[in-house]
Amino acid sequence: MIKPTRRQFLSTLAAGTLVAGCGNPESINKSKSLVSNIHQHTDKIFDVIIIGAGLSGLMAAMTLEENGYKVLVLEGRNRIGGRVYTLMDVPGKPEAAGEYIGANYARMINTIKKLGLDMYNPESNGIDRPWMYHINGQNIDAKSWESHALNPLEGEDRQLLPHRYLSRLSNRDNPLADKPLNAWLTKEMHQYDIPHDQYLRAKGLNEETIRLMNVVIHSGGIENTSAINELRRYHVMDWNSKMAFPDGKSWKMVRGGNSLLPIKMAESLDNEVLLNKTVVGFSDNGNQVDIQCADTSRYKAKQVVCSIPISVLRNVIFEPSIKGIQKEAIDQIDYGLSMQAHFLVKEAFWEKDGNDPNMWTDSPIERLGVRTKKHKDDPESCVVFVNGPESLKFRLMSDEQVFDYVEAELAKIRPSTKGTLERLMIQSCERDIHGAGDWVYWQPGQVKKFGNNMRHKHGNIHFCGEHTAIMERGMEGAFESGERAALDIIFNS
Ligand SMILES: Cc1cc2nc3c(=O)[nH]c(=O)nc-3n(C[C@H](O)[C@H](O)[C@H](O)COP(=O)(O)OP(=O)(O)OC[C@H]3O[C@@H](n4cnc5c(N)ncnc54)[C@H](O)[C@@H]3O)c2cc1C
Repeated sequence: MIKPTRRQFLSTLAAGTLVAGCGNPESINKSKSLVSNIHQHTDKIFDVIIIGAGLSGLMAAMTLEENGYKVLVLEGRNRIGGRVYTLMDVPGKPEAAGEYIGANYARMINTIKKLGLDMYNPESNGIDRPWMYHINGQNIDAKSWESHALNPLEGEDRQLLPHRYLSRLSNRDNPLADKPLNAWLTKEMHQYDIPHDQYLRAKGLNEETIRLMNVVIHSGGIENTSAINELRRYHVMDWNSKMAFPDGKSWKMVRGGNSLLPIKMAESLDNEVLLNKTVVGFSDNGNQVDIQCADTSRYKAKQVVCSIPISVLRNVIFEPSIKGIQKEAIDQIDYGLSMQAHFLVKEAFWEKDGNDPNMWTDSPIERLGVRTKKHKDDPESCVVFVNGPESLKFRLMSDEQVFDYVEAELAKIRPSTKGTLERLMIQSCERDIHGAGDWVYWQPGQVKKFGNNMRHKHGNIHFCGEHTAIMERGMEGAFESGERAALDIIFNS
């Protein structure tokens, strides 16, 4: 495999990837120029217009079209896929967002098969490698952790490795265990709609354990996250882990990159998905919805399916306006943030210092992970992955400043990385206007308040998206929600 030079990378990135926080449009979609698209279809009245070409919007579009509806999809970015985003221009084509497909992802697997795509088991040279830890300024290898003075747990729990604390300890005695996947929305669970740290303290966990659990929480911090959010997360993961593909594996990826799935879904539709169509407003007169885009074009449909992430909806005008509890949900629900700094590994720094390659830390850069290879010939690459409150600081930095910061912090905790890494790209789902963040999360009190009130249709506008899923989470949650919105139109409108 010939590694592209840094200059080749920068020229590819300048062509689209880094500038817009998006993939190279030529390589991932049959996009036309913005100019030629501006007035396409503006005179027609569609049965349904779908906003957003992520998995949920595309699932809604396919389901409706299969049932005889004339549909059009409008997408704000210059690429298909939303939070499914394979970095096609980066060596090894790493997944920068939706990555692992669980054996229970029935709708997603069905769509993959229907569209003639294939799944595969990635080479496990990243996730199966052990971690080394950097905690309170000390480097600790996994074997030493059980007896280490910094280990805050007691008895058999001392064997638990720090990167497992959040999932294992949150899931212990999970009140959702053995209940259906929608049980998190029931009244019985409202007693757990409290800050997760409070829930854990009541379970007897000490402050240092809770601090370490907070390192990789996918939200706005453990004290700002409802315990139900975490209990649901691990309940669904438990459900996933009970299933297996016929080869015994629990998780797979799409061969060639997960982005191929939304691209194929878009290609299967009668009408080409229109890109660069940022929707800024909806006017619904009761019979028809008029959709306004940032490029001044307008589209009309009898019904709309809107998959825009809920916090992005704060910037969209609805006529008539959304009021009451649904408006409060739009104004208050947030997404967990993350930042990924991708590097090519020019020299195996772990061979230089003799430590395990992957690092889990309580430092400002949280995790250094050597990427799982898709293929044995892929070059070695790694990612610094920061999420939760620690990623907020990167909102105040340019991409170059993020790289400078990450390299400086890495040099402090892992001097062997100096001079061994080549900068590739910074990726973050909230670093452009169409992305709210990684995954929606529920703050204390929000499940009780909004859990059953945020997916109601508003006039002729139906909502979907991972944030509205009832049973599943992540990519399968997106499929579930798109199917629900489509079926609502098919059966109730
Ligand atoms: C880092 C990361 C890792 C993940 N890992 C996994 C995993 O391993 N397994 C898993 O199952 N899930 C994972 N997920 C979650 C999963 O990717 C998402 O839940 C899912 O893809 C969301 O799909 P969606 O259709 O609901 O939203 P999106 O994909 O966000 O789709 C919404 C679309 O609307 C568009 N849009 C936004 N505003 C406008 C506007 N005003 N006008 C027009 N269009 C607009 C956006 O550009 C986007 O294309 C991960 C996510 C991230 C970020």
